[in-house]
Amino acid sequence: MSSNLIVQKYGGTSVGTLDQIRNVAKRVKKSRDAGKDVLVVVSAMAGETDKLLEMANKLSDLPERREIDLLLSSGERISSALLSIALHGMGCPAVALTGRQMGLVTDDTHTRARIKAINAGRATDILKTNHVVVCAGFQGVNDLGDVTTLGRGGSDTSAVALAVALKADVCEIYTDVRGVYTADPRMVPNARKLNMVSFEEMLEMASLGAKVLQIRCVEFANNFNMPIVVRSTFDETDQGTRIGQENPDMEQPVVSGVMYDKDQSKITVKGVPDQPGIAANIFNALAEAAISVDMIIQNVSAEGHTDISFTLHTTNLKEAMSIMEKKGKEVKAESVSADSNISKISVVGAGMRSHSGVAARIFSTLSRESINIMMISTSEIRVSCIIDKQSTEQAVRALHGEFKLDEEPKRVSQPATDASPAT
Ligand code: ADP
Ligand code: ASP
Ligand code: MG
Repeated sequence: MSSNLIVQKYGGTSVGTLDQIRNVAKRVKKSRDAGKDVLVVVSAMAGETDKLLEMANKLSDLPERREIDLLLSSGERISSALLSIALHGMGCPAVALTGRQMGLVTDDTHTRARIKAINAGRATDILKTNHVVVCAGFQGVNDLGDVTTLGRGGSDTSAVALAVALKADVCEIYTDVRGVYTADPRMVPNARKLNMVSFEEMLEMASLGAKVLQIRCVEFANNFNMPIVVRSTFDETDQGTRIGQENPDMEQPVVSGVMYDKDQSKITVKGVPDQPGIAANIFNALAEAAISVDMIIQNVSAEGHTDISFTLHTTNLKEAMSIMEKKGKEVKAESVSADSNISKISVVGAGMRSHSGVAARIFSTLSRESINIMMISTSEIRVSCIIDKQSTEQAVRALHGEFKLDEEPKRVSQPATDASPAT
């Protein structure tokens, strides 16, 4: 059964100024005037979250995560109230709700909480009275009633979760680009917009740095089969990119995109005794703090000692280093050091499953550009390399060119006989 409800999420750059808030209000009103029930999710005004974080970091080396959540959630409160006020000003009745008022309940993991339940009775009642609901994205409350946030870019996840809870047909994500591209269109001017992307590919792209969608929002959409449309706030004519279940109409190029993530750091623990249980000891401590680790390399043991290096998101670096310095002493490591001058570049494509040789082409391209590879990891449909941060643009553009991603892809008609992963 099709629903009369649409969920629209507007990102920070779409509500960065009062004029932009007016523009969003006009678009929302248009949808309501067309007879739709509209639930809007907004992010904080552009730059606001960074500004608040900067203030906290000036006051403390490692600000309390609980307090950070209370602080950051204020950004979305401001933009949701302002949008609701703008809608009223246009004769469109609206009610702004915080995460708590929206009934969005999360676990206790401050600054990267996971949604446990949505009790959307209040929003449903308001929608019945023909008001637009404007929900502050990115936030919820834990069982104690403390404010939590869902991680950077988390308003995307609020929107998809609310679309699922309220049984909308689709979740529309409005942003400052026309959709999902073969690479960040701000870095690669000839990047091509994709019309349709499968959940699986989008999961890879989001996890590898295509920050147009937060990874958890794609996980949610995939788990509950909620289609997402990413489109421009500023260009009403473009239909954007639809993300949904894989279907035969989707492009199946060997490579569909090149992603980068400059917010990566590497921690190296040098000279740890090469004994069973050391890796478990180190990585359990990080897991307990809900810090995800990405690539891990352990060197060949020399004289009973070895080095372990791993990468993680830079937002978690300070916390991870304070854990690792303690752990380092405990496991009698020689030293623990951090390097933030790295980035991760990745080549993604569902067609890699049936086509070999992609990894070799990536390495040859980087070698032609004299870019050194520090670490490599692969999955069925992607290859990622850690390189030095300064070479990011050069690497992304070279790989985009190598795989001719600016051109419409040819269909993958004859899968290779060997169906093993490309690497
Ligand atoms: P919002 O404020 O709307 O949430 P974000 O800044 O979080 O917007 O995400 C949109 C940005 O994502 C774009 O401005 C673009 O630079 C970046 N981006 C990175 N990779 C991609 C990609 N593959 N396709 C589209 N946008 C991308
Ligand atoms: N304002 C938050 C951030 O900047 C959440 C969001 O924009 O989705 O990360
Ligand atoms: Mg975003």
